[in-house]
Amino acid sequence: MTNINETHDQNLKSWVESANDPDTDFPIQNLPVCKFVENGEARIGVVIGDYLLDFEGYFNATLSEGFEKMSIELASNSQVRNQMQKDLGKSASKETQNLIKENFLIDRNKVEFTSPFKTADYTDFYCSIYHATNVGKLFRPDNPLMPNYKWIPIGYHGRASSIIPSGQDIKRPKGQNRSDAEKPPIYIPSKALDYEMEVGFYVSKGNELGETIDIKDAEDHIFGLSLVNDWSARDIQGWEYQPLGPFLGKSFATTVSPFVVTMEALAPFRVPAFKREEGDPKPLPYLQDDGNETHGGIDINLDVYITTKKMREMDLEPHLLSRSNLKDLYWTIGQMLTHHASNGCNLQVGDLMATGTVSGKEDSERGCLLEITRRGAEPVELPSGETRKFLEDYDEIIMKGFCEKEGFRRIGFGECRGMVLPADE
Ligand code: CA
Repeated sequence: MTNINETHDQNLKSWVESANDPDTDFPIQNLPVCKFVENGEARIGVVIGDYLLDFEGYFNATLSEGFEKMSIELASNSQVRNQMQKDLGKSASKETQNLIKENFLIDRNKVEFTSPFKTADYTDFYCSIYHATNVGKLFRPDNPLMPNYKWIPIGYHGRASSIIPSGQDIKRPKGQNRSDAEKPPIYIPSKALDYEMEVGFYVSKGNELGETIDIKDAEDHIFGLSLVNDWSARDIQGWEYQPLGPFLGKSFATTVSPFVVTMEALAPFRVPAFKREEGDPKPLPYLQDDGNETHGGIDINLDVYITTKKMREMDLEPHLLSRSNLKDLYWTIGQMLTHHASNGCNLQVGDLMATGTVSGKEDSERGCLLEITRRGAEPVELPSGETRKFLEDYDEIIMKGFCEKEGFRRIGFGECRGMVLPADE
């Protein structure tokens, strides 16, 4: 758990002027890490305003060390963050400024981004009690929450090969649909394609097979956070999920935002873990820790926008579908990680864990269309006059995240964006 220090001072400014824009997601207090492609080569960058600092060049590091190792060891290191802030700060010498400007500063709009890590394993949790309750109600009105929910951070093993970076289109999946219970299922393009607003975190330090991770140390294993869209085909999911859980309804695509906001950058926005209701069980001892209870949560606003083909033709702004907050999760990211390793499963550097759909108590805080439209029963009205039960072809979903707190500089996550293309004929 990183403390607030001088790198979080709201008065720090950069000589990179775009980083001083009050609306930017990327002031000098943020400095998220990403992987970008230039001249066909993937490299590590640190985002500052509208620019990227070429990390490898800046540190004169060598490629042979490997991206994952380098970015994690360098960027999650407080001393490195300190040094970058000095060199990018207003009071850096002209010499330093020129050296960086001429050699290591790249226009962010001129490069492409890839997924930040080579992820071998991806796990998706289900940690919003509001989401679990809303979804549960649709299927089991009298008994929405499963009996294990308040004891276990529920999760399933996702598919890592179909993790794609923000901006890449997704193809509508085909699968078995059994909407007519009188007839056998048919294999058709999904008619109930949905998104899920989630936050992902990357493992920076693994554990040996057979070893566990103490809840006190959980965050030492987490590199940072980015946004995740867990695309979901509800019709495929609904037919296949019993008894083993999500499979092809989820594995066709998961979009991640390219910028990983480090745990240190998030220090000012830490909040207590979710306050459990009177009568809820306490977490079992292996998931219980005073530090986790007092500041295991993170206050991150999460917005979901949609644009449709017609909205773009009419020049309409993207329409806000929901705003939820990560602090409303029933389980903390530390508890998710500790639980994941609690049976001796070995976590590895670059593993991605996602929180599950982040929803809140209010109707405006429902993080997927399944909840917003109550499985299609109450379609969303859009400013174009269109309605949506689920996503149509050429709809684009844009997710954003940001942290705001009195006395600190606002920081953001950038975008997690993806458009739905038609299924193959
Ligand atoms: Ca999910």
